Amino acid sequence: MSVEKIDTLVVGGGQAGLAMSEHLSKCGVPHLVLERHRIAERWRSERWDSLVANGPAWHDRFPGLEFPVTGPDGFPPKEEVADYFVAYAKHIDAPIRCGVEVKLVQRIAGRPGFRVETSGGVIEANNVVAATGPFQRPVVPALVPADAGLLQIHSSAYRNPGQLPAGGVLVIGAGSSGVQIADELLRAGRRVYLSVGPHDRPPRAYRGRDFCWWLGVLGKWDAETPRPGMEHVTIAVSGARGGHTVDFRRLAAQGMILVGRTDSYENGTVRFAPDLADNLAHSDASLMSLLDEADAYVARNGLDLPEEPDARRIEPDPDCVTHPLSDLNLAAAGITSIIWATGFTVDYSWLKVDAFDETGRPKHQRGVSVEPGIYFLGLPWQSRRGSSFIWGVWHDAKHVADRIATQRKYLAYHASANEAQGRTQRQPEG
Ligand SMILES: Cc1cc2nc3c(=O)[nH]c(=O)nc-3n(C[C@H](O)[C@H](O)[C@H](O)COP(=O)(O)OP(=O)(O)OC[C@H]3O[C@@H](n4cnc5c(N)ncnc54)[C@H](O)[C@@H]3O)c2cc1C
Repeated sequence: MSVEKIDTLVVGGGQAGLAMSEHLSKCGVPHLVLERHRIAERWRSERWDSLVANGPAWHDRFPGLEFPVTGPDGFPPKEEVADYFVAYAKHIDAPIRCGVEVKLVQRIAGRPGFRVETSGGVIEANNVVAATGPFQRPVVPALVPADAGLLQIHSSAYRNPGQLPAGGVLVIGAGSSGVQIADELLRAGRRVYLSVGPHDRPPRAYRGRDFCWWLGVLGKWDAETPRPGMEHVTIAVSGARGGHTVDFRRLAAQGMILVGRTDSYENGTVRFAPDLADNLAHSDASLMSLLDEADAYVARNGLDLPEEPDARRIEPDPDCVTHPLSDLNLAAAGITSIIWATGFTVDYSWLKVDAFDETGRPKHQRGVSVEPGIYFLGLPWQSRRGSSFIWGVWHDAKHVADRIATQRKYLAYHASANEAQGRTQRQPEG
């Protein structure tokens, strides 16, 4: 039986896979994108119902197409984001096959290329690009046992308040997902405890410009590595209800009970680290430092952007911050659900090649792995802070496609050189 062959196989039909396809086409590289479900499936069905993009439509998009419904300064709902990528696939005429899962990739022994086992048969490829996303496998710390007598779900499984049993909710993690879910539950009338770890809290907008603009002009999206000590710091930002600055003190004033980082669990009681006030103080400091940099940028460039002193106003600490809970008996507090908004990790169990370190993380430079022919796209901090976001992955894809095209040129050179050599060697015989 003949085996299907393709030069470059892209695994994953999310934004990364589509960006890859666009740039491979521009470089003239024959390729195929395989997506196990539908285009941009994670946006379509693996997030909560009310999610809107965290960045405005003018920013969180690819250069070649605008969002058709939401205006440039709005925040598109997740369905519109998914539809956008379906339209984008058509726009670039991406060679994409949906409903095909890649099960195993292995190097072919004794000759170049990879054998790819899929749910639709075997494919051989010279190159494989893993574009399966920065947020693949939910991370839930092993703290509260599964038989603790309450519902426990990861933020990726949360859809809406109606899905949870009646009663209070403990949301663990206060990055963009945790804080938005906690806010939604509070608005739905739930008693909500929010466990707040270290985080950054940029202003939604300042002096009339969205924080995405500020991070852009200040060069922060292009930072190549996290600031030392900030590697595990999450960012709390929201596009919900037209977009607003995340303000934990305001949430507390509305009835949310803030607690420190969740540390341990024993006999129905959760214990919290005594770090709540510090975590809030650090994020206030990061907010102020961004405002300072923005002011300096305005002054240096003589920009006519209205001053906004209110952006620096910090409300007094609420009681839950000045007298923080050190522990909480879940049953006594009426908590019936825990939502773990504790992030994701990668899972490359299908990629059996020598491109990973001892912790399973890809060994690569800007997506070009140490295993020739294997590439990654969409990794957090792949080349810069913006790498896992919509606009950032497009630029990383350009680099990866360029590297693939360059390698093809080297191989083509050797092929023609060998041919020429073969001709010279054959000539005397003829
Ligand atoms: C809650 C949340 C909100 C976010 N909001 C924003 C935002 O507002 N703006 C922004 O820029 N970014 C945002 N991001 C970050 C990022 O844009 C998304 O995570 C985005 O989905 C990443 O796109 P991707 O193509 O890299 O990966 P994914 O969207 O995860 O796409 C990977 C695709 O690969 C497929 N796949 C996986 N394994 C296989 C396999 N073995 N075979 C075939 N197919 C496979 C999956 O089905 C999936 O469709 C958000 C992330 C989260 C978690």
